[in-house]
Amino acid sequence: MIVGIDLGTTNSLIAVWENGAARLIPNSLGDVLTPSCVSIDDDGSILVGRAARERLQTHPQLSAAAFKRHMGSDKQITLGKRGFRPEELSALILRSLKDDAEAALGQPVTEAIITVPAYFSDAQRKATRAAGQLAGLKVERLLNEPTAAALAYGIHLRDSESKFLIFDLGGGTFDVSVLDLFDNVMEVRASAGDNYLGGEDFVACLVERFFEHNKMSTLYKNDAGFMQRLGAQVEAAKRALSDAASTTIRISDNGADFAMELDEAGFEKYCAPLLARLRDPVERALRDAQLPSTELDNVVLAGGATRMPMVRRMVARMFGRFPACDINPDEVVALGAAVQAGLKAKDAALDEVVMTDVAPYSLGIDTSMRLSQDSYSHGHFDPIIERNSVVPVSRVKRYFPLHDSQRQLEINVFQGEARMAADNIKLGQLQIALPAGVRDEGGVDVRFTYDVNGLLQAEATVLKTGDTVSLLIEGNPGLLSEDDIARRFAALSALKIHPREQMENRTLLARGERLYQQLRGSAREHLGVQIVRFEQALETQDKHQFAPASKAFAQLLDELEHQSFLQPND
Ligand code: AMP
Repeated sequence: MIVGIDLGTTNSLIAVWENGAARLIPNSLGDVLTPSCVSIDDDGSILVGRAARERLQTHPQLSAAAFKRHMGSDKQITLGKRGFRPEELSALILRSLKDDAEAALGQPVTEAIITVPAYFSDAQRKATRAAGQLAGLKVERLLNEPTAAALAYGIHLRDSESKFLIFDLGGGTFDVSVLDLFDNVMEVRASAGDNYLGGEDFVACLVERFFEHNKMSTLYKNDAGFMQRLGAQVEAAKRALSDAASTTIRISDNGADFAMELDEAGFEKYCAPLLARLRDPVERALRDAQLPSTELDNVVLAGGATRMPMVRRMVARMFGRFPACDINPDEVVALGAAVQAGLKAKDAALDEVVMTDVAPYSLGIDTSMRLSQDSYSHGHFDPIIERNSVVPVSRVKRYFPLHDSQRQLEINVFQGEARMAADNIKLGQLQIALPAGVRDEGGVDVRFTYDVNGLLQAEATVLKTGDTVSLLIEGNPGLLSEDDIARRFAALSALKIHPREQMENRTLLARGERLYQQLRGSAREHLGVQIVRFEQALETQDKHQFAPASKAFAQLLDELEHQSFLQPND
């Protein structure tokens, strides 16, 4: 069974193509959104999802979130005594989704289509693939998130030519893609984005504002637990403002109470610099696609952060029309990934659609520019595959050594748009031996091939001899080798995962502990007693005892959560 997975910064989702439609699969708590959080539980087992998110506040040293931002780097994230790479933490999320799907479908899930931001670099894509392997999934394809959103909207089923713009603002990334559907071929004409702009930045902006408003000491920023709690309150306020005109953010700490009233207009004012940053990638994508916005047939919203009314208004202003948002924006990418899984499994209904995509960055090598007979300017970037070329793409360019006496050609591969190679990201290096006379007899052909998964291969051929060297992209410190993956797969498989069937109660306990830390006085005392009682009921392992206890405990938490928001000063 092939599944579609949206591996998000904030939340992840899994969906299948079944009976001619895409369907989201809920996790063991019944939610389709699984927070992309991992935590190590008190007994050393791994917790994924909502329980792990609760523990970000109570056990920040044992919990991690937003690691998608570090994919493709060699950053180690330490949880307790163990260091994890971002792809290992992502693998734990994928494994949990895979378990949910297997439980729901009653059959093994071995293959997946995983979505990535269109702007993900080569290293980030490889890391995502490695995460899939580490989770025991064959990653059939990586699919750009905006392309997935288009598939969910059935854009591929339209009869006439259609041009679409997908505006995808997630938790941590912003992607804009211009798609063109023509004769059953869906082509991504251009994509642009910002890897460091998303809903979390709106939260960070409000947190700053909260500090200013309450004239709070910056020392609070060193208190991870306090910052987590404040972040959660601000996140709740941000969401509330998507439906209500105003809200209040409150937090208490050791007897000090802080609050800030906020309405939608104020929120928009503080976040104006973030809103302004949405404009540039939209313009860049339209310019690269050579398409004025008036020629777009539709604008589609994706990503949870597009629920913010200020973002919708900004989109409507930019395009002079209302965007399409019939499908839940946090679900649209996963649903599209399932459509792609259906395409992959050669479902008859989708048989004819051809998908194309584009290379998000220009890919090229460093060259020297001849200024006069004997003077050169070195280190210029010469693109071989231009940004937004439709993939798969293979391009060749011919190069000549600077001197006849040169016996070795060093080819450095870069990705980026800067004029000078050093200002771009270096992907690797290739060395090729040169026989005498290369300059006059053909030079060297450098071929770049970029496949549908956004993976790059390079090849250099000396025309005189026909000698070819395939580009050996030298060990990027951020990437895992196949051996590393196999070793880490074994290590991850040995980790104890918290049992699925206990997740609901485990999540309730984690939530109870988080609330306990937030409360004070008698409410806190009362909750402390109830936590112990609930733990005792769980220890009986008798469903007749713990099922009603679980229901009552959940109700108490709902009440306390509501109260603590309204009356934080007890
Ligand atoms: P995604 O990566 O697509 O799951 O998007 C997650 C982002 O959407 C997070 O930053 C959330 O805070 C944000 N988000 C989700 N629901 C809402 C909402 N109702 N209002 C505002 N932002 C939301």
